[in-house]
Amino acid sequence: MIKLPEIERKSKEEIKAFQNELLKKQLGYLQENSAYYSELFKNQNIDIESINSVEDLIKIPVTTKDELQKYNEKFLCVPKSEIADYVSTSGTSGDPVLIAMTDEDLERLAYNEALSYDCAGLNTGNTLQLTTTLDRRFMAGLAYFLGARKAGIGVVRVGSGVPELQWDTIRKIKPDALICVPSFLLKMIEYAEENNIDYRNSSVKKVICIGEPLRNQDFSDNVLASKIKSKWPLELYSTYASTEMATAFTECEAGMGGHHHPELIICEFLDENDQPVTEGEAGELVVTTLGVRGMPLLRYKTGDIVKPYHEKCSCGRTTFRLGPLVGRKQQMIKYKGTSLYPPSLLDLLNDFEEVKHYVIEVFSSEIDEDEIQVKVFSTNETDEMLDRIKDRFRAKVRVSPRIQFVSEPEILKIKFPENSRKAITFLDNRKS
Ligand SMILES: [Zn+2]
Repeated sequence: MIKLPEIERKSKEEIKAFQNELLKKQLGYLQENSAYYSELFKNQNIDIESINSVEDLIKIPVTTKDELQKYNEKFLCVPKSEIADYVSTSGTSGDPVLIAMTDEDLERLAYNEALSYDCAGLNTGNTLQLTTTLDRRFMAGLAYFLGARKAGIGVVRVGSGVPELQWDTIRKIKPDALICVPSFLLKMIEYAEENNIDYRNSSVKKVICIGEPLRNQDFSDNVLASKIKSKWPLELYSTYASTEMATAFTECEAGMGGHHHPELIICEFLDENDQPVTEGEAGELVVTTLGVRGMPLLRYKTGDIVKPYHEKCSCGRTTFRLGPLVGRKQQMIKYKGTSLYPPSLLDLLNDFEEVKHYVIEVFSSEIDEDEIQVKVFSTNETDEMLDRIKDRFRAKVRVSPRIQFVSEPEILKIKFPENSRKAITFLDNRKS
């Protein structure tokens, strides 16, 4: 059992002051140990003594993923002998980005995940089944394991895939919760139905979900979450995390966004010009890790557009919550004066039973404006159906892109190109 931090229930001013203190410490650590940041401070004439608050961070340039990739080793703050574990995340081009973690970093990860479990109402005495991998340089699997041990939660590491082994384990161990990619839950349900497993009455009541969104922007269940719950009434907890941040934001039972843990990370929300957006508006999440020893990051641009919610949560926590991912910054579509992100378009198409496959393509018009073309394979190809789809676009995202019905083979060819293991639903053919 871990002692829960009091700071998560303090006033906004107290949280601010607390973070400013930690920021000062972090800057001192970077100045002393980070080749990358000490050079940056020197080249930009930045005196870290002049940075006294989160608001002052604007004086320091942001760090991009390209920089983290290009100067990967320069971000390392400790000698090799102090590295306990290496993980990686995909880079923007070519080589993956390596992140090295010290023992303290692993301890921090464990602490973070123990807080996440507490948010999801899991504590000492519960048992958790891990349906994600623990190896392959994957940070999250390890974090889930270490966090569970810290919280006194038992773990069974089944790993990814193999519904048969998942169900066999559930039958024998009777876990209370799963860590799972939501779409894999559908596969588990399918397997259970084919094999007469009474899954609705199994021991599993909660699932901490990773990798895929569960909620619409108003926090209602998205199509995927509704599909799962209509079959199997589980409590689904959404999470937002990344390897670079080494931090997870997990929902509490209110399901109103992932809770921020102020002792672990500083978050800024910036506009296209790297300036702060008006408080409470969606912006690119830019993070400064706190307490990280191996490869700490300062003002790191995540590329994710998210919206913070500052009102006190019904669970009693006063820390802000991160809403569902609005979209990836580089995928932003500027359409007739409106900014759009693919998830909002994809979600809308998921609502139609008749629509079996779709691909959304953006390209540049002759006058260099973004154009949207939606290709749809539908079991109903009437004009009435086309109008229904168009109306939905107008109502939900206030745009009416070109919509075209195409045959199943044609769309499958676009959706599953050779050499791609992932289905493609968004094609960006804009001139860069
Ligand atoms: Zn809450």
